[in-house]
Amino acid sequence: MPLSILVVEDNDMNMQLVEYLLEEAGYDILKASSGEEALEVAEKSPPALVLMDIHLPGMDGLSVAREMKRRNNTRHVPILALTAHAMRGDKDRFLEAGCDGYISKPIDVKSFIPSIEEFLPTQPGRDQ
Ligand code: MN
Repeated sequence: MPLSILVVEDNDMNMQLVEYLLEEAGYDILKASSGEEALEVAEKSPPALVLMDIHLPGMDGLSVAREMKRRNNTRHVPILALTAHAMRGDKDRFLEAGCDGYISKPIDVKSFIPSIEEFLPTQPGRDQ
C-alpha cells in the first residue's frame, strides 16, 4: 500500500503543485486547508508524513505541529514545515514547535520528492 502524506495548505496553487508531485511519485494524499481540519484528518488516519504550511487561516502551522506532537496518534509522524519565510531563526522556531524539518517555497520541483523522502521510513512500493 502506498504511504499517505497529509498536505496542509490553504493556497490552491501550492496545493495543486504538491498534490501533482506526490501523486506522480506514487503517494496517497490527504488534504487539509486549515489547521483544525488537519488535526481532524491526522487523528482519524495518521499519515506517514505531514507537509505543513505555516501561514494558515485560524490556527497557524506551528500550533498544529505542537498539537500533533502532543497526541498519541500523531506524535510519531514526521512534520515538514512548508514556508516562504525560512529566515534566520525560523528553523529553530519550526524545530521547537515539533517540526522535523522544512521545505522552502516556492517549491523546487526537482528536489521536492528526494527532500521529503529523507523523512519517510520507506520508499513507496514501486521501488522494491
Ligand atoms: Mn498559507
